[in-house]
Amino acid sequence: MNRRHFVKSSVAAAVAFSFQSQILRAAIVGPEGSVSSDINAITLDGAEVTLNASAVQEFGDSIRGNLLLPGSEAYDDARLLLNAQFNKFPALVVQPFSAADVSAAVRFAAENRLLTAVKCGGHAFAGQSTCDGGLQIDLSRMRWVRVDPQRQRAWISGGSLLGELDYETMAHGLVTTAGSVSHTGVGGLTLGGGFGRLGRKYGMSIDNVLAVDIVTADGELRRASATENPELYWAVRGGGGNFGVVTAFEFQLHEQNRQVVSGSYSFPFEQAQQVLEFAGEFAGQAPDELLVGSFIGAFPPDGEPRCSISVVYSGPPEQAEAILAPIEKAGDVVSNSVKTWDYVALQKSGDFDDPRANGAHMESGFIQAMSSEVIRDVLASFEPSPTRATWTIFTHGGGAIGRVAPDATAFVHRDKPHSILSLVGWRAGHDPTGDIAYHRKQSLIWKAHTSGFYTNDLSDETQAMVDATYGANLPRLVEVKNQYDPTNLFRLNANIRPTV
Ligand code: FAD
Repeated sequence: MNRRHFVKSSVAAAVAFSFQSQILRAAIVGPEGSVSSDINAITLDGAEVTLNASAVQEFGDSIRGNLLLPGSEAYDDARLLLNAQFNKFPALVVQPFSAADVSAAVRFAAENRLLTAVKCGGHAFAGQSTCDGGLQIDLSRMRWVRVDPQRQRAWISGGSLLGELDYETMAHGLVTTAGSVSHTGVGGLTLGGGFGRLGRKYGMSIDNVLAVDIVTADGELRRASATENPELYWAVRGGGGNFGVVTAFEFQLHEQNRQVVSGSYSFPFEQAQQVLEFAGEFAGQAPDELLVGSFIGAFPPDGEPRCSISVVYSGPPEQAEAILAPIEKAGDVVSNSVKTWDYVALQKSGDFDDPRANGAHMESGFIQAMSSEVIRDVLASFEPSPTRATWTIFTHGGGAIGRVAPDATAFVHRDKPHSILSLVGWRAGHDPTGDIAYHRKQSLIWKAHTSGFYTNDLSDETQAMVDATYGANLPRLVEVKNQYDPTNLFRLNANIRPTV
């Protein structure tokens, strides 16, 4: 029986649940299995503080989830992120099992004024979901999805990964916008905005958030929606992790054909200027169902420069050929991998099979157009090398993303049809200091063309640049921050500083 038909027909009244089993028993996990000595930690101001062993033990005993201490495998698993660049050591890691655990962890952090990091998928480019000496709240034990196909809604916990969302919703022929790597966290990606293969058709992830459950800095669990705490609801849609720990999201879903058409066209690198100019023009005329990305890059060991245009077409598959045909004229096509995909498989196709084996540094910024000058400067900054992986992507916005007013959510850059993402990468164990310095210098060649950056791509931008990227929405964001996090407990992010 057709899977989609089976699901649709069997859920007339039913709602589907998917819970990841909580295999670990609640525990204090460390070399001793209990808190045997006082713990040195770092406060919000960077001062050193000693946490009394019995107070920490009491806290650990009071929660259902895990309290992980240095010296255990589980602690090392939690503290590390995807990007091998970051190797930090929190004083304590809490793995909540529930919203009540998150409240307890936030209260413990606030009472002790502890530097606090919040981790979902661990993909942050700036490495701020872990920290040295503070408290890390690792949400990886809070992974569940509930789908209501009739109402086209999904509820998903704040520690979940995108692949879980895609898999459970597509089982009903439904989707919402999610990013392009399935082990990215729903938490971080959504709160910062959320671009994805279907974003031009259905808007950003935040445009589909109907409500959140969030533990704010006072430890209270609140609901934020258009009618409950509406300012908080406005702010969490683009303001990142600044306002609390989101324990659950409610998403609007959309009917979507499981089959989409996707792949890349490769061109000789010598034609890169003309190919990228074509891609910019073609993207500007694309229907909402079409996403057009462009790429240049070179990777060890051959260091051969490559240039390609990639596409995702999510309209009727039989129309794809005619819609994509003009790309053949962008240059001399060397290879073409475009084919029909299962959407969930496509969403996993860029996953790393060796997570944490790579480090990367990113420079990025929004641009108003893929003009010939922008492309010229990006190409001028690009130096193919057999020893250093470098690549640059032009993303594609617009469509439904651009039809939302810049002040309708905290994400202000609605009018930017593209951004530049430039990366340098290395294998774990390599000292990247020289590569990062080189990359910063090279990126200056094109940076003047950019205007603001996506806060989810935060790398090492200054606070002034972070303030500027929130643009006209900053004063309202500061008001919400003053109300819900006046002590700036949640500061390890693209920070909105309170003024009270
Ligand atoms: P984490 O490192 O776990 O969290 C990042 C930050 O988010 C934390 O510091 C915290 O402030 C906050 N946070 C996370 N969860 C919560 C929560 N539940 N409550 C409160 N705060 C929370 N972005 C796109 O828009 N589209 C893409 O297609 C895309 N692809 C990517 C692919 C890769 C391989 C990588 C590395 C990044 C990609 N990004 C993409 C960027 C991505 O959105 C950010 O890196 C994002 O921060 C990742 O979220 P995370 O939960 O995995 O990260």
